[in-house]
Amino acid sequence: MALGSPKVRSEPQPVSAPRSLTLLGATGSVGGSTIDLIKRGGSRYRVEAVTANNNAAALARLSRELNVRFAAVANPSAYAELKDALSGSGIVAAAGEDALIEAAERPAEWVMAAISGSAGLKSTLAAAKRGATIALANKECLVCAGGLFMRSAAAAGANVLPVDSEHNALFQALTAGRREDVQRAILTASGGPFRTWSMEAMRAATPEQALRHPNWSMGAKVTIDSATLMNKGLELIEAHHLFALEPSKLDVLVHPQSIVHGLIEFRDGSVVAQLGAPDMRIPIAYCLAWPDRIDGAAARLDLARIANLSFEAPDPVRFPALAIARSVLEGGGAGPTVLNGANEIAVEAFVTHRLGFTGIAALVAATIDAAERGGLRNEPQNVEEALAVDHMARTLALELLPEIAAKAS
Ligand code: NDP
Repeated sequence: MALGSPKVRSEPQPVSAPRSLTLLGATGSVGGSTIDLIKRGGSRYRVEAVTANNNAAALARLSRELNVRFAAVANPSAYAELKDALSGSGIVAAAGEDALIEAAERPAEWVMAAISGSAGLKSTLAAAKRGATIALANKECLVCAGGLFMRSAAAAGANVLPVDSEHNALFQALTAGRREDVQRAILTASGGPFRTWSMEAMRAATPEQALRHPNWSMGAKVTIDSATLMNKGLELIEAHHLFALEPSKLDVLVHPQSIVHGLIEFRDGSVVAQLGAPDMRIPIAYCLAWPDRIDGAAARLDLARIANLSFEAPDPVRFPALAIARSVLEGGGAGPTVLNGANEIAVEAFVTHRLGFTGIAALVAATIDAAERGGLRNEPQNVEEALAVDHMARTLALELLPEIAAKAS
């Protein structure tokens, strides 16, 4: 695969104050951490627009607190509640897919893309196409349509800043040397709650157990993805697009303490790593202040207290999701889009007790096989094609669900 120069611009630009911001997915876990930093930043920031899916009450509350201009819910049936809750505030309330795009298109210099799943693709792309600085948390957007997204951002001169802690670590470590001297980029994984579990125990794992992440407090989808290690697979694909690194230069290392987030190995054998407490406010603060830095975004790292940092190779037998993701990354075409859509269905089925834990990777693999047999091969060239492949993958996964659920039980 021919790869060009790095796609993430890293030349610092002066920050104008106050910085205008829009938060897509404001009511979620990343949204909440971002709002905490914004409130602490006082007059340094002004919030233009915020969005949610259904949670009109929380969106209205934070819209008033932040004195935003525009608030939108994706689900039209949540509109009446949002409008009522904002009445008399002067804040414009809106609903539906077009309203999310309008939020992204409004004139904010910086956009936090923190909707979960491929549902965030259109609005994140809309912000990229107008050349905003995008703080990108929504990894599914890059897995579903990474080539398309990065090309659109580059054409519009948009800066794409990685929020995901591992990619943020790589982004920082990459500043230590020249791109052509990079030998390997290593993403760390906590290993999730089932790191030491047997295959038999994992087969019976419940959603409640999978949602108990040992180190990070996150939304449900990414927490389940962390338990299967599919999250690390999605992140390999994300890193490939963000940093224009070929798959053979991307690696994963299990690191249960979640202190070292990412490492860059240069060709002379030097390895540069970024460390920090497992708190999303650190990478979010980096993106929020970029190219400056914020004082005390989170607790300082106390390495003497932590004392031990350990590393191990991921187990491909108990965690097959990683190899599935690597194989679609290497295969290219529509594979990553299919993987993402199938995984969203599989996670939803697991959380709603319709599929066992080990069935998640099995359903994703079966969907990819069926899609390939059905001729779903070419990389999507525009957002309509990406969403059509995503839809077909979801339909296939739902068709395969009963058979895979029966086998995995
Ligand atoms: P949450 O589930 O906590 O929040 C998701 C947000 O997106 C909420 O505001 C939710 O609204 C909104 N949303 C959900 N579905 C839709 C939809 N169909 N249309 C429009 N809006 C929608 O997720 P996280 O904050 O944990 O994660 C967000 C993204 O960041 C994910 O892609 C995740 O992989 C990534 N990420 C998260 C990390 C974390 O620490 N949480 C770490 C690294 C990456 P509502 O409240 O109404 O449901």
